Amino acid sequence: MGESPIRKLFGIAHDPSIISFAGGHPAPELFDTEGLSRAFSHVIDANGGRALQYGPTDGEPEMREAAAKRLAEQGVPTSPANVLITSGSQQGLGLLSQTLFNPGDIVLVENPTYMSALQAFALQGVEFRALLSDEGGVIPEALDTAIRYWKPKAVYLIPTFQNPTGVTMPWSRRTAIADVIAAHDVWLIEDDPYSELRFTDEVLPPIVSDPRLDDRSFLANSLSKVLAPGLRVGWLRGPEEVLERVGVAKQGSALQTSTVDQLAAVHYLEHTDLESRLVTVRAEYASRMNTMVDELAEILPPGSVLTKPAGGMFVWARLPEGFDTSELVYRAIELGTIFVPGAPFYVEEPDERTMRFSFVSHGSETIAQGLRRMAPLFA
Ligand code: PMP
Repeated sequence: MGESPIRKLFGIAHDPSIISFAGGHPAPELFDTEGLSRAFSHVIDANGGRALQYGPTDGEPEMREAAAKRLAEQGVPTSPANVLITSGSQQGLGLLSQTLFNPGDIVLVENPTYMSALQAFALQGVEFRALLSDEGGVIPEALDTAIRYWKPKAVYLIPTFQNPTGVTMPWSRRTAIADVIAAHDVWLIEDDPYSELRFTDEVLPPIVSDPRLDDRSFLANSLSKVLAPGLRVGWLRGPEEVLERVGVAKQGSALQTSTVDQLAAVHYLEHTDLESRLVTVRAEYASRMNTMVDELAEILPPGSVLTKPAGGMFVWARLPEGFDTSELVYRAIELGTIFVPGAPFYVEEPDERTMRFSFVSHGSETIAQGLRRMAPLFA
């Protein structure tokens, strides 16, 4: 039960005197508090007996339908039978790990990748192997070779606005990866929490939109980044017979996802134009990202490399030789600001010169202020 280094930093990040770029916490001022308040009141007033009661492990039927509808709109035709509602996509990853993995199983991952997925999988005693990537994400030929060599149980990928790097796999990459997965006996676990936070018009369907992968893939998704992470409503799309087993794991750990949260989410989705709200959120996040990239370009030392993501929540930076961000972070805290050092995101050969900045939690002025506080680190 090793502790996540990021969640440890979150304790510090909550200190109001610190300007934090650590957590991927959506901007609270963009939450639709009124709309959600109406949705909660409605479902309790209209049928409190149901909303406040226990409910099915797999999720409320309306929520499963709403999730299937959202997936179809994102280019992944889905029947509600192929959807299990989870308490955030993180629970989906954890339950899937309990269902699929035995100690010693190998899981192929991007290097670096989302730390809490590593945590969920590591609890089952799996071993990780790193996949080779370039600026377009995982290299399909390298994936093919790694599958042949390591005979992994699963491949875990975040193809859109990856956490932590912000990298997005182009469509040609996705189809090439689908070809590789289709040719092998391996599970694909695709994690897609960020795709709706895009800053361009380019919509890239998930890899699992390829029907050849229907019997060997899972897609984890949630309302956290588009609506509110405190809701804890997410879903897992996958083969029905496996989701039944995942449901058994869910019974044993949580019985169900909150009934009132699901019904309020359904009511909200049915009565709100979420898409037009997202237009505002995307524009605001894009502007914050631009401020961050501009300010970082001012303060980072010559020779640094920055990603400029086309969506999501994170900018990833790599400092020139000689820097160690795991040490710098303590000095950053003394200066009243914080980022996440890159090393813990790696499963192999951690790059001590990398660091992740979230650009969503503060307005542009505060972003500039926080980064200027950080400037002496690089002087
Ligand atoms: N996957 C990735 C890549 C994430 O970045 C996050 C949130 N940080 C999650 C899954 C989990 O999000 P949630 O459980 O709120 O849906």
